[in-house]
Amino acid sequence: MSSPTLAKITTVGVVGAGTMGNGIAQACAVSGIDVIMVDISQEAVAKGLATVAGSLDRLIKKEKITEADKAAALARIKTSTDYAEFKAAQLVIEAATENHGLKVKILQQLDGLLAPEVLIASNTSSISITKLAAVTSRADRFIGMHFFNPVPMMALVEIIRGLQTSDATHDAVHALATALGKTPITVKNAPGFVVNRILVPMINEALFVLAEGLATPEDIDAGMKLGCNQPIGPLALADMIGLDVCLAVMEVYLNEFGDSKYRPCPLLKEMVAAGRLGRKTGHGVYKY
Ligand code: NAD
Repeated sequence: MSSPTLAKITTVGVVGAGTMGNGIAQACAVSGIDVIMVDISQEAVAKGLATVAGSLDRLIKKEKITEADKAAALARIKTSTDYAEFKAAQLVIEAATENHGLKVKILQQLDGLLAPEVLIASNTSSISITKLAAVTSRADRFIGMHFFNPVPMMALVEIIRGLQTSDATHDAVHALATALGKTPITVKNAPGFVVNRILVPMINEALFVLAEGLATPEDIDAGMKLGCNQPIGPLALADMIGLDVCLAVMEVYLNEFGDSKYRPCPLLKEMVAAGRLGRKTGHGVYKY
C-alpha cells in the first residue's frame, strides 16, 4: 500500500501538557504553528498553559519578544481533554508520562482516531521508536521527535527513524523542527539515541573515577568544565538528572546491548540504594 500524501504541517497536536508538552506547544506557537494541547484533566492543561504564559513573560522581560507576540502565541494554543480535537492536526506529538503501557494505549487510541495521512511522533527518552511504531497501523508515518528540556531554550531535536519510518515522514518532521528554529539531527533508532547514549556513560565513568579516589568531586567537575568546555561537570549534572534516572538508563543499555562496558558503577548503585538521588532529595554526589 502506498503512503498517503503528506500535507504541510501547520497544526500540531500535543499529548501531555507537562514539562515537555507545554514546552513543545510554546515552541510551535511562537513559530506560527497552531497547537492543540491535550492532557487528562482541565487542571493539567491549565497548569501547562500557565507555564507557557510565565515562560513568555520571561522572554518579554529579556526583550526577546513583545506583549503582542505573547498574545499571538497564546491565541494559537487550544487546550482540551479530548483527543477528538486533534482532527485539525497534520502531526500529533506524544509527550505523555514515560510509561510503556500508557504510551501504547495512547498511540492505539490516536491511530484509531486520526486520518491515515496524519503523522505521529513520540518524545520518549527511552522507549524504542520501532516498537512504538509497531503498535500503530502507520509505522511508516511514525517517528521519534526527542526535544530537550527546557524546550523553548534548547536548540537540539533528535529525529529518530524507526525501522519502518518513511523518507517523506522524516523529511516533513525534519522541516518542522527547522521551522521551529531548532537544529535537528537524524538518528537511527537505538537505546539512548545519540546524546544520552554518550552522556550517561560519561557520567557513569565520572562516578568510577570518583569511586577509585582519583580526584575529589569538585576537581573531577572542574576538569571536565575547563578541559572539555562543558558548562557543568558530569557529577553536578548527575545530581540534576537524578542518580536513579542515570542508573536506570545504564541498566537499559546493559540489557539491550548485552555489553559489559555499560555496567553501572557500584558507587552509583550504592548511592541510589541509600536514597541519595541528587538535587531532588537534597543529597547526591553533592549536598544541597
Ligand atoms: P511530565 O510528568 O512533566 O508530563 C507528562 C504529562 O502527561 C502529565 O501532565 C500527565 O498528566 C500527562 N498524561 C498522562 N497520561 C496522559 C494521557 N493518557 N493523555 C494525555 N496526557 C497524559 O513528563 P515530561 O517530563 O514532560 O515527559 C514527557 C515525555 O517526554 C516522556 O516520554 C519523557 O521521557 C520525555 N522527555 C522528558 C525530558 C525531560 O527532561 N523531562 C526530556 C526529553 C524527553
